[in-house]
Amino acid sequence: MIPARVREAAARLGDTPAYLYDLPGLDAHARSVRRALPGVELYYAVKANPDPELLRVLEPHVDGFEVSSAGEHAHVSALFPGKPLALGGPGKTDAELRLPHHRLHVESPGELRRLLGTGLEADVLVRLNPGLPVEGAALTMSGPFGMDEAGVAECLPLFTGRVRLRGAHAHLASGLAAAELLRLAALLLALGDGYEEMNLGGGMAVDYAAPQARFGWEEYGEGLAGLRRPGQRLRIEPGRALTAYCGFYATRVVDVKRVRGRAYAILLGGTHHLRTPVTKGHDQPFAVLPEGRGEGVADEPVTLVGQLCTPKDVFARDVVTSVRVGDVVVFAMAGAYAWNISHHDFLMHPHPEFRHLTG
Ligand SMILES: *Cc1c(COP(=O)(O)O)cnc(C)c1O
Repeated sequence: MIPARVREAAARLGDTPAYLYDLPGLDAHARSVRRALPGVELYYAVKANPDPELLRVLEPHVDGFEVSSAGEHAHVSALFPGKPLALGGPGKTDAELRLPHHRLHVESPGELRRLLGTGLEADVLVRLNPGLPVEGAALTMSGPFGMDEAGVAECLPLFTGRVRLRGAHAHLASGLAAAELLRLAALLLALGDGYEEMNLGGGMAVDYAAPQARFGWEEYGEGLAGLRRPGQRLRIEPGRALTAYCGFYATRVVDVKRVRGRAYAILLGGTHHLRTPVTKGHDQPFAVLPEGRGEGVADEPVTLVGQLCTPKDVFARDVVTSVRVGDVVVFAMAGAYAWNISHHDFLMHPHPEFRHLTG
């Protein structure tokens, strides 16, 4: 679960926690994803992790980037001038609607009217909210995202020579297995029969309980090849399933104690650095590097917590392990929706270091 280069870097951990990014691991993973998807355009959803060094590794493997704000747009445009950008996100401002793009994902008839009001050219995908039942999702993107049939029907007559309808976009849920994504893809492609271009979104499953498992990219690629209509452009925009595996959060045990019968290991840092287990409600997978000489517990259920003064600051609950004061704990699967979704300044502890491992 922990590659040798990450283990070596973690063993040299200083006084603050560190994010360790396995760049060769990311490169190999992105290459295998790309290879599994012949004939499908691959974009990376930047919100999963916008770290510039990760984006540089991904860039040769992807056809473009999906950005969801002016901030992400400026960040990616500065790194890769000219790389195709799909600009999405609910609540775009007029300034965002004026940004150059390869594709703009329109979320509502009102947004399309404001886009027309800019007088600029645009290549638009209408974002669909088709109300399809989704099975096994970690999160369903129902509610305000995209448009129902009435919203799309209101948009269609508004397109002009300058503001071109290129196709449709749908990102329905996150955490889906290949078979469920393919079932949805078949329904979406039937709905979008007349469209020359379809963006099927992201949402490929990442199983935090099985760190070695990967989404079924081959199955998905083969399934999409069978579903694609002649002449139609297909695009996907995964985030989590591309970058989750390359990130590791390494920290050190400062205290081990027992309170009312339960064993706790208290670690430097906390969920203000790695919020993922709190938001997802899982135990973050980890390995203990036995570097410590202090007090500890052996082979028993331990709850791993951070330095925050809140009972929510939990990385993993009652997981059987051995751990001592001074040990290094390395959390895996911390490369997506991890640092960038965390509340960094709560309690004003120092920020972690960031190391991008290349060798
Ligand atoms: C967040 C998001 C994605 C990426 O989702 P993952 O679950 O990280 O693959 C793709 N498209 C849109 C529109 C999104 O909002």
